[in-house]
Formats: sequence, C-alpha cells, structure tokens
Amino acid sequence: MPLHEGDHRGRPYKHMLNSKIPPGPMDQKWSSHKAHIKLVNPANKRKYTVIVVGTGLAGASAAASLSELGYAVKVFCVQDSPRRAHSIAAQGGINAAKNYPNDNDSIYRLFYDTLKGGDFRAREANVYRLADVSNTIIDQCVAQGVPFAREYSGYLDNRSFGGAQVSRTFYARGQTGQQLLLGAYGALMKEVHRGNIKLCPRTEMLDLVVVNGVAKGIVTRNLLTGDVESHAADAVVLATGGYATVFYLSTNAKACNVTAIWRAHKRGAFFANPCYTQIHPTCIPVHGDYQSKLTLMSESLRNDGRVWVPKKKGDSRKPSDIPEDERDYFLERKYPNFGNLVPRDIASRNAKDICDQGRGVTSTGQAVYLDLADAIGRLGKKTIEERYGNLLQMYEKIMGENPCETPMKIYPAPHYAMGGLWVDYNLMSNMPGLFVIGEANFSDHGANRLGASALMQGLADGYFVLPATIGDYLAQAGFGKSSTDAQEFKDAEEEAKYITHKLLSVKGGRTVDDFHRELGKLCWDKCGMARNRSGLSEALRKIPVIREEFWKNVNVPGFGEDLNQSLEKAGRVADFLEFAELLITDALHREESCGGHFREEYQTPEGEAKRDDEKFSYVAAWEFKGVGEPPVLHKEELTFENVKPAQRSYK
Ligand SMILES: Cc1cc2nc3c(=O)[nH]c(=O)nc-3n(C[C@H](O)[C@H](O)[C@H](O)COP(=O)(O)OP(=O)(O)OC[C@H]3O[C@@H](n4cnc5c(N)ncnc54)[C@H](O)[C@@H]3O)c2cc1C
Repeated sequence: MPLHEGDHRGRPYKHMLNSKIPPGPMDQKWSSHKAHIKLVNPANKRKYTVIVVGTGLAGASAAASLSELGYAVKVFCVQDSPRRAHSIAAQGGINAAKNYPNDNDSIYRLFYDTLKGGDFRAREANVYRLADVSNTIIDQCVAQGVPFAREYSGYLDNRSFGGAQVSRTFYARGQTGQQLLLGAYGALMKEVHRGNIKLCPRTEMLDLVVVNGVAKGIVTRNLLTGDVESHAADAVVLATGGYATVFYLSTNAKACNVTAIWRAHKRGAFFANPCYTQIHPTCIPVHGDYQSKLTLMSESLRNDGRVWVPKKKGDSRKPSDIPEDERDYFLERKYPNFGNLVPRDIASRNAKDICDQGRGVTSTGQAVYLDLADAIGRLGKKTIEERYGNLLQMYEKIMGENPCETPMKIYPAPHYAMGGLWVDYNLMSNMPGLFVIGEANFSDHGANRLGASALMQGLADGYFVLPATIGDYLAQAGFGKSSTDAQEFKDAEEEAKYITHKLLSVKGGRTVDDFHRELGKLCWDKCGMARNRSGLSEALRKIPVIREEFWKNVNVPGFGEDLNQSLEKAGRVADFLEFAELLITDALHREESCGGHFREEYQTPEGEAKRDDEKFSYVAAWEFKGVGEPPVLHKEELTFENVKPAQRSYK
C-alpha cells in the first residue's frame, strides 16, 4: 500500500489538523476552557441520548458521570458483565502527583516525566491536563471506597514506576485495575438501577452510523441471539480499549480488538499513530507454539526486582550458583540513574539486545532474570509477599517455581496501544459527535506510555474531561434529533449482516486462530521491538496475501443466530487484517526512532532511539480510502511552549 501524502485528489497536503488547544498559560488552559465552554441546561440534559461503547475504566467512568449529570445513556460491552472489561487485569497502579511521600513530586514533574517518557510525541496541553486532574482521580476513587494500599500512618502508600525518580503510584496490591473497576462499576450500576442507563452486555458494535458527516448512532450484534440492531444517539463515545492483540500473543485479554475504532475509521474517523505500540519488558516468556496469550508480571516488581543475566554466554548453571561478580545487572550498569526503573521501551530493547547477543537464559535463550532476592534479604519475604501477593502466586502457577526462591524469567511482550482514533483537546474525533476515550484514542502517551499512566488517562477522560467537553458539543448540536429512521442505519445494518453471512459461508480449511497467529507473528517479527525498511516493506507485501487467503479459506463453524465465538473472533481478525496494513504503513513512513517505535536505521551510537524533530514532530492521523488503497496522511504539528524536546537520557 503506497503512502499517499496529500488530500484525496492527490494534491499535496496543505492544512494541519486543528487540535483546538485553548489559549492561555499552560496551567490555566483547562480551567479557563471549562469556564468558557457551553453548558446544557439541567432540564434539557435528559433529552440528549449518549451512547457509550465499552465498560472498562474509561467507559464505565464516563457512562456513570454522564448519567449522574442527567443525560440519557446507553452502554454496550461484549462481556456478560461490565465488570469483565479488560481493565480488570491492570495490576501495578495508577499515577497521581499528590506528593504524599514528600519526595518533591508536583503536577509539573508528572507532566514533564509523561511527555519525556513518550519521547516528546504527545500533545503538551493534554499531558498537562492529565497531570493536573490526576490528584482528583485519587480523591474520587477513595470516595468510592477503592481500597488503595495504606501506610501504617493511614496515608495512601505510593511506589515507583519506570521513567520517574519519585514514588507517585497508588496501588491495591497487584489488583489495582480490579479495585478501580469495582468503583467505576458500582457508580455505573447505581445509575443502571436508577433507570438512567440502559445497559446492553454481550452486544458488539459492528458499525458507526454517520448521517450528513455527523456520528448519529451505532449498529450492534447481540452475541447471544445474533440479532443486528440500530441505536441512535446525539453523541457516540467509543471506549473500546486497545489493539495490542493484533500481535496475536499479547498481555491483553483475548477479546481486546480493533473492531469498533477500525469500523469508525472506515466511516471517516482519522486513525492516529497506529505504529506506536508498547512492548512491556516483564512478561512470562512464550513457552510454545499453541499458546493463546501471554501473562504480564507488573512493572511494580521492578521496584524490588533486579534484572540480570549471566556475564558468560551459554552459562547454564542454576541462577543461585552464579556468584555476584559473574552477573550482569545490565540496566543498572547502563542506566545508573534510573537502573531497573527505566521506561518500558528502554527496558524491553535492552532485554532483546542481551538475548540477541546470545546471553539470554532458559533453553530458548529468550528470557532474562527478574530477581527479588536482594529485596527479600533487605525487607523480608513477608513484606514482599504483601506487596505483590497475587502476582507471585500467578507466576508460580504458570511457571511452577516460587519467585521468592528462584529468580523470575521474563521477556518483553506486546501490551498497550498508544495509537488510536485521533481526538482534539475535547476528546472529539475529526467527526462531529464521535468522542473517543481511554486506550481507544491516540491518547496522551506519545510514542511510549509510562507505567501506571493508562489507568490515570482512562479515568481522567471518563470522570473529568469528557463530562465537561461533551456538553459543549451537545449544547451547540441541539436535541431531539436522534432516530434510527435514516437510511444510513438500514444500510449499515445490511452491511453488518452481509459480513456475518460472508464469514460463515467461506467454509474453508483454516481456523480463524491460524490466520490470526500468522498475522500476529508477521507483525511481531517485522514491527515489534525493532523495525526496518526492508522488514516493513515485506510485511506490507504479505498482509494483503494473508487477507486474501482468509476470505477464501477461513473456516467459521456454527451459525449466526446464536452464541458463536468463532464468528465473533472471525470478524475481529478480519478487521486486524485490514488494520495491520495501516499499522505497518505508519511505521514505514516514520523515518525516525521514538519511544516504542524503534527503526533500526535511526539510532544513536549507543543504540538509543534517534528522533528527527525537524521532520517528524507531528501526530500522523490517517484517513481511510478503501481496503488496500493508500490512506491519506493528515498531520497535527506538535508544538512545545513549556518544555524543550531533548534527546531522552536515563543514564
Ligand atoms: C495485564 C495488564 C496489566 C495492566 N496494568 C496496568 C497498570 O497497573 N496501570 C496502568 O495504568 N495500566 C495498566 N494496564 C493498561 C490498562 O489496563 C488499560 O490500558 C486500560 O485498562 C484500558 O481501559 P479502557 O477502559 O480504555 O479499555 P478496556 O478496559 O479494554 O475496556 C474496553 C471495553 O470495550 C468493550 N468493547 C470492545 N470492543 C467492543 C465492541 N466492538 N463492541 C462493544 N463493546 C466493545 C469491552 O467489552 C470493554 O467493556 C495494564 C494492561 C494489561 C494488559
């Protein structure tokens, strides 16, 4: 798919996307914006219907907040309960600039660390706002009863995460996502029981309905009955999570997908920075060809765990038999300032480098040690077990080894999507009426997300940003116009039914998983931790071939009129087969290295990412022009008024 840098008539690209960043000093933009945007009269709010797709932290917090404000809300998710959204898997914590440990943290420092962590490829004003509202999120969650860990004094406890030299991560053992989601779920269900929210679980969004260029509703499939239905609204909010499952093996739940945002993209929403994906350094290594997913070992473990490999290549002694001076604590050696708490992109690349040099451990050579022994010696086993309880149990269950006795074996794995649908400062996409929040938008994390910042962003979007900005849109759009009568709804329903029918009728010889595995491996090999022109070009040639074979040879058993998980998967994999081409196109066009996007051709003599601010300091927002057709590149230039982008250093 050749790159098309210009508008749809082939004219060179002329205008930049308008991010609608409010004027004024950085620390006053958000409060002044909120004070000036339009409000909806409380008596009129119930006349507006808002659709929220997704019940993870972003969707549940948004739906509850919008309903509490008085809007009529309809909520959709693919699981049987909103509580099963993938957010429940989040382990390590959520950042906020409370400065409880008195270690000199501040809103500015959280802002700066996040911007630097993302390699200066995020929008400055959004990142500042994120840091600014971070403290309010903690207050909100505490008020809901989220049981954050506390110190003996009663203060909420904090721990450290990568890319920061302060402790600002609030946590609930290794189950922070679960506890936060229970809080948001409680708020959501309270509104469901008051009758203000209509909840539709087990319902998958298959299309966005656009009438006269404005998002006006969605088409869904009931996953239990197969019924295809239309839902109209005055605004649609997508909170459908990330797409790291494009790599097949990832730390994400199996149901994570790109479908909702991809189909919205096909209807006109721009897709931003699709190649910015995060590879998390501490996951349980792959152990077989037929594994269906990978398990994360939270970054919080790097607070107390030391990463090392034997100095000698091929050293097959037990880790306990390798003396201190024959171990290479390579992160501490290379990055003395941040040590084991360097950001994820850097930790991952270093682990890969060491393994590529033949110094990895285990029989595959594709692992490094994460060792808690020092911390246990210093603090005692009981303290470590209290801090990381369920993580240690999980590791032992999967690996059959007690991590308090034998160092854990870890290797990087796909984990998070920094890319997503493009949104302006108000979290509205380029399409009026379509808002995108949480991991589904291109977010505030630039080219690399710092640990514990996804929960912060999802909840900032859902509890605090969207409830304010959506009112501004609705107040101007007017109410009472949402109906499924428009022809566009009927057309979208027909299309959704046609795709289901087509998937069921191929009756070929290969399973959906088989295609997904092939695509995932290609993306991982050519666009994983390291990418280069030749590999990316090869992937671009191969993806259409896999896609063509899929539509000729996929086998989807069963019917469309009842629960059919193969059919659900098939629809999602069909979308991945289109989306992957955009992901690779984006990676190929970005001729620089930044954060999680490491192009081998562009590195410093020390092997660090080499940005090209002159040419690539922009958000790449792609416009869909047809399957297999070149997408059109739109740019949002990134300007920095308060920080000076510099070569990242964690040494
Ligand atoms: C193992 C693991 C641990 C993590 N730990 C942390 C951590 O400690 N700290 C941190 O900050 N981040 C962490 N993250 C990242 C963080 O959990 C996610 O980024 C975040 O929870 C995403 O929230 P979300 O609300 O955007 O999406 P999700 O929680 O993924 O929710 C998506 C929702 O959309 C629905 N949906 C999806 N597609 C459709 C469709 N087509 N139709 C209808 N509904 C649909 C789903 O049913 C679901 O309800 C972790 C991630 C993983 C994988």
